[in-house]
Amino acid sequence: MEIKITLKSGKEQSVKRLHPWIFSGAIKKISGTPAEGDIVKVFDNNNNFLAVGHYQPGSIAVRILSFTDIEPDVGFFRQTIERAFEFRKAAGLTGNHKLNVFRLIHGEGDGLPGLVADYYNGVIVMQTHSVGMYRIRRELAGILSGLPHLKISAVYDKSGSTIPFMSGIRPENEFLHGSSESVIVTEYGFRFRIDWVGGQKTGFFIDQRENRKLLGEFTKDRSVLNMFGYTGGFSVYAMKNARLVDSVDSSAQAVQMADENVRLNFGDDRRHTSIQADAFEFLNGIKGKYDLIVLDPPAFAKHNNALDNALQGYKRLNMKAIQMIKPGGIIFTFSCSQVVSRENFRKSVFAAAANTGRKVRILHQMSQPPDHPVNIYHPESEYLKGLVLYVE
Ligand code: SAH
Repeated sequence: MEIKITLKSGKEQSVKRLHPWIFSGAIKKISGTPAEGDIVKVFDNNNNFLAVGHYQPGSIAVRILSFTDIEPDVGFFRQTIERAFEFRKAAGLTGNHKLNVFRLIHGEGDGLPGLVADYYNGVIVMQTHSVGMYRIRRELAGILSGLPHLKISAVYDKSGSTIPFMSGIRPENEFLHGSSESVIVTEYGFRFRIDWVGGQKTGFFIDQRENRKLLGEFTKDRSVLNMFGYTGGFSVYAMKNARLVDSVDSSAQAVQMADENVRLNFGDDRRHTSIQADAFEFLNGIKGKYDLIVLDPPAFAKHNNALDNALQGYKRLNMKAIQMIKPGGIIFTFSCSQVVSRENFRKSVFAAAANTGRKVRILHQMSQPPDHPVNIYHPESEYLKGLVLYVE
């Protein structure tokens, strides 16, 4: 039976502006009892069709798949996924021998809320963030593995820890198509080993690609600190021409991965050191040691109510780096918290700078790359922001 959700009067406005979420508070009536992940149709208070999407109990009750009255069947998902691929092609990310790693599906940014899929040189690692997407994971993997031009050897589903906790489902991480131990990818000519099993998220932070490339323009003869280094992405780019590069991360596994990736590109090069340490403790002891610092911390705020603490965190962290960096130094500083706006992030960095009294200029403003597209109707999908600072 088709499940019908009727919105309270006035609550159709955001849907008419093509925002892809319906919050539970907007709902007036649900006909029947939808199970988690069911397809539901949404109507306004006058019974006009608005949208169709995946249902889930919780704050975001419906994740919209279409604003026209269609059945979201396998054909629908195939078309939407093919469009996502065409978009990457248009952005110049496919068919490039120096680049075989990109995000293929970016949730709301690609009209597929609840689904993320990264392409790693023939292997796709997907994560579902909604029960609706999880329930059709095999169909999705089938579509992904059959994409023409990509020659997919394996699709790994890493939804083990991304499905909402309420659902009662116990998802396992598993291959849904083929299999592969690990893979080496090429990003602008640099090589990285991707470990989707042991690594965080899908194994690699693809979203920093263009910012890593930008970093490469500033590293010549500098001593570089890559704080929160994870797989050593920024370190590898810096190693091309820096005087020394230190990768710091609190996770032992990250330290190993950074070492391995630097070795993969530069062999045993004594300019690089990987250090396991806590960021705040480490930063206390670096006065005058570095003239380029990268600060790419994990999301400090996952929810709105943690916003103030997150802003304080960014302020403290940036203050330390601005205090400690050599005169004429450069800081690449980032926030990947969705709830921290570009403006709020900039304010925290401003407050940090003001506290040190040093003269600070903004050289670049950074963002997320085109394979992490921002759906203009869904400002929440803009999450990555960064500044390049010049500190006198
Ligand atoms: N810059 C990386 C991504 C960073 S992800 C890239 O380009 O790929 C954030 C990293 O911060 C994780 O690897 C995590 O282990 C590390 N981390 C978290 N808390 C930390 C802390 N207090 N001190 C140092 N590292 C920390």
